[in-house]
Amino acid sequence: MTKPLAELLAQRIRQGGPITLADYMAECLLHPTHGYYATREPFGAAGDFITAPEISQMFGELIGLMLAQSWLDQGAPAPFVLAEPGPGRGTLMADIWRATRAVPGFHAAARVHLVEASPALRRAQRERLAGVPVTWHDTLDDLPQAPLWLIANEFFDALPIRQFQREGDGWRERVVGLRDGLLVPGLTEAAPRPELAHRLADTGEGEVVEVCSAAAAAMAAIGERIAAHGGAAVVIDYGDWRSRGDTFQAVRQHQYADPFAEPGMADLTAHVDFEALARAVPGLRHSALVAQGALLARLGIDLRAERLARGLSGEALEFHRAATRRLTDPAEMGTLFKALALVAPGAPLPPGFEFAPEPGPEPGPEQESETRNEFGATTPE
Ligand code: SAH
Repeated sequence: MTKPLAELLAQRIRQGGPITLADYMAECLLHPTHGYYATREPFGAAGDFITAPEISQMFGELIGLMLAQSWLDQGAPAPFVLAEPGPGRGTLMADIWRATRAVPGFHAAARVHLVEASPALRRAQRERLAGVPVTWHDTLDDLPQAPLWLIANEFFDALPIRQFQREGDGWRERVVGLRDGLLVPGLTEAAPRPELAHRLADTGEGEVVEVCSAAAAAMAAIGERIAAHGGAAVVIDYGDWRSRGDTFQAVRQHQYADPFAEPGMADLTAHVDFEALARAVPGLRHSALVAQGALLARLGIDLRAERLARGLSGEALEFHRAATRRLTDPAEMGTLFKALALVAPGAPLPPGFEFAPEPGPEPGPEQESETRNEFGATTPE
């Protein structure tokens, strides 16, 4: 019998000492036999959380038409790569594909590439996308060198982070160790961290900063392709312009959980630091951060919602109205989730986005941070 993940991690810590939060998170989410994404389909009312494409088909339809318009605006290069990292059940790409059917030349030119680490979710995607020619990859580094239109929804928040707590001009790293045989968080001795020098200016004693090197690596792979061949990347996620404080969290069955209690059984995430994503690709231009609700409004969700409502009545209509609210309302996902677009210098942004006012990405009214938590926003009533 295979040992549960807690025992495997305890063994590893006994042998090699405490592990970083990033190593812990990676094992919990992606361990090949016990990892959260490897063993289950976590989405939907019966799962642990629900994502925008699972709430309503409108999300994927509007994103699809936005990507297609951006492709047309950049001269409709053929062939091009239509990519999605972390596609979950494949719902977003299925909706994108259906919505773009009528865009002349788009399907003929598109090569769909999905980046997915979980074999269980790859199977779900294969089913959902039956009839769509799809290639799967383990990492974004494997994407072909070609014009690239990429959408990432709730992908970056699943990437492993490290956490550092400020002490004087040094930093103590938050790590996972063992006490009485149980996995517990702890802190290393303080040490200088040259890569965090810029955070000495905006943090105080004891404050925590988060670093996601996997996100920077992913953005580098995306940026290299868009800078060389054209295209656009659109990232939608839970987070803000700069990482402040501890945002590491576990959610299980739509409830917060202790992230160290039963490794592999809960979804682990951290807020996305959009500034870090933008800074990881200095060769691209980025948009201002825009709230999901505002983006969907600019893309015409009201019209689409009305059009769909015409064919519905009774409970189905109620459900549809609730889903629309859920995606856009500031009290639900509307302001908590943000979107960022990146393009090569000289290229237009996709519809719905604006460049940040020069010289720097000062937060505008749309970017003000929200203090509500993700759980409150993504749980069904
Ligand atoms: N985009 C989907 C699912 C979000 S959940 C939606 O909006 O519904 C996160 C997804 O990222 C899952 O498909 C998960 O298996 C995948 N994932 C997490 N870490 C990954 C990694 N390091 N490499 C590739 N895929 C990863």
